[in-house]
Amino acid sequence: MTKAVVIGAGMAGLITAAYLAKDGIEVDVFEQSDQIGGVTRSMKKDGFTWDIGPMIVETLGPDEPGGIVLKEIGCADKVEMISGDRGVVFPDYSVQKPDEYGGPYWRKDRLKEVFPDEAEGIEEFYKICDTITDLVTLDRMTKVRGPIRSAFLKIGMALLYLKIKKYETMNAKELLDIFFKDEKIKAFFTAILADLVVLPSEFIGLGIPFFNPELAYDFRIPAKRVFGIGPRRVGFYYVAGGIGKLIDAIAEAVTENGGNIHTATAVKKILTEGENVVGVELENGKTVQADAVFVSGDARECFFKLIGKDRLPTDFVAQIEDVPLMESIFMVQLGVDIDPTPYQNCPIIYYVNTYDIEGAVYLTRDGEYHEGKEGFVIYINSFHSPEMAPKGMHSITIYTIAPSDIEGGWNEAKEEMTEKLLIEAEKIIPGLRKHAKVTITLTPDDFKKITHMPDHHSFGGMCPIMGKEAPKFKTPYRGLWFIGSQSEAGAGVWAQLVCSRQVFRMAKKEF
Ligand SMILES: Cc1cc2nc3c(=O)[nH]c(=O)nc-3n(C[C@H](O)[C@H](O)[C@H](O)COP(=O)(O)OP(=O)(O)OC[C@H]3O[C@@H](n4cnc5c(N)ncnc54)[C@H](O)[C@@H]3O)c2cc1C
Repeated sequence: MTKAVVIGAGMAGLITAAYLAKDGIEVDVFEQSDQIGGVTRSMKKDGFTWDIGPMIVETLGPDEPGGIVLKEIGCADKVEMISGDRGVVFPDYSVQKPDEYGGPYWRKDRLKEVFPDEAEGIEEFYKICDTITDLVTLDRMTKVRGPIRSAFLKIGMALLYLKIKKYETMNAKELLDIFFKDEKIKAFFTAILADLVVLPSEFIGLGIPFFNPELAYDFRIPAKRVFGIGPRRVGFYYVAGGIGKLIDAIAEAVTENGGNIHTATAVKKILTEGENVVGVELENGKTVQADAVFVSGDARECFFKLIGKDRLPTDFVAQIEDVPLMESIFMVQLGVDIDPTPYQNCPIIYYVNTYDIEGAVYLTRDGEYHEGKEGFVIYINSFHSPEMAPKGMHSITIYTIAPSDIEGGWNEAKEEMTEKLLIEAEKIIPGLRKHAKVTITLTPDDFKKITHMPDHHSFGGMCPIMGKEAPKFKTPYRGLWFIGSQSEAGAGVWAQLVCSRQVFRMAKKEF
């Protein structure tokens, strides 16, 4: 019987294990933390529940790629998805869904209202956005469809690509400069890059619409079909009760099919013989033989510590050393006895306090923490799932991007930075500190422990910089597969869902 080991019980590891177990393969998942989920987990205290990682996830609807994966592994009916959206607020304008539905392009109209001199550019740029959204919709579908349907989808993609091909080599700065003059509207499209710690001049221009789809801003917009008959554009979802429920359902799918999940069990070494992987050695000294090993987590940790540079080809070592990583997260979880409804109209709002996105990226790269002054996210968990807080109260997550390490260390700065971030957040929701029944801070040091990234916590894996390639699923060793957000899957829950499925299918051909 084929035997597999999965390193890491995050989203990538558990989805892989679910497919393996369902296929009758004997699978052991080893997770160093005493809890499963990696960053895809919810935490609880005194009746409050908060997510600590992914909050809003795309493609989880029934006929969408992530939803198809959940159905295949048998847990689509075990989790309730809530259609949702998010908004963005800048110092002197905001783009938030109107109370009364304003049609599929209300966001475009809103931008024209704020930037009347840019109306022509907005109209033209939106044509590119529409094409990219359709292209991405088809591309995602190819990952979960068979060869014949995928071939049709790829023909559609080729037709769409012709419309935008002339922009393919441009970076985001160059592309936006064609359509807009005002830095304030450019920041609307590039603000997310500050989170990814990528300069607009380093990021692929045609990637901009990918991070700014209409449906993310208003779930009431009907999901259009590509070419009128193709797949529908994907929706965005909160998981009822918190993202931890999704992980629990996937873990159940693993164990119900005979897989074993071992928590508090770190893997110390990946064992190889010749060109083949043959198993793993655990921190507790035990060895486990396996025909295939699927490893998730930090690329340098996986390859340099669990295998060793001397056992890897030189060009592969150079590629891993060259992987630019995103930075970390400073997060405050609050349980409050006030009603934030008058101040925020949907669960997630990005408060961006700068238009200088390049400046924000340089600051983070230099290890400078902005203390919440450049912006933060407020995520009110209990807006989509009131059961995540005691009756009449709310569970609020406030977070910023933060350097993985700062001078003096995070432990030293924790209390002061918590206070400073809450002072900024109170400019949006007054009285947060006074009404906090529970306050819990997670610093980058905490995220390092949760994810087993002792040297550098990266919140989303590799920085998507043009010309830089993420490590492939297939590694230099036969039977060893690299999965998760630092692999070619990239960041995001949906990416782990569809890519882990893809890796399972690739591996199965080798068994
Ligand atoms: C604050 C935050 C907000 C986010 N928001 C969103 C969002 O809204 N939507 C979205 O789609 N995505 C979001 N993401 C990104 C998304 O959560 C990740 O891309 C995805 O969850 C990564 O899954 P993973 O399995 O690759 O990694 P992880 O969750 O890091 O899991 C890896 C696991 O492997 C374990 N491990 C590593 N090495 C070893 C070892 N040697 N032995 C044993 N175990 C090991 C770790 O302990 C960990 O549990 C967010 C992330 C963060 C941090």
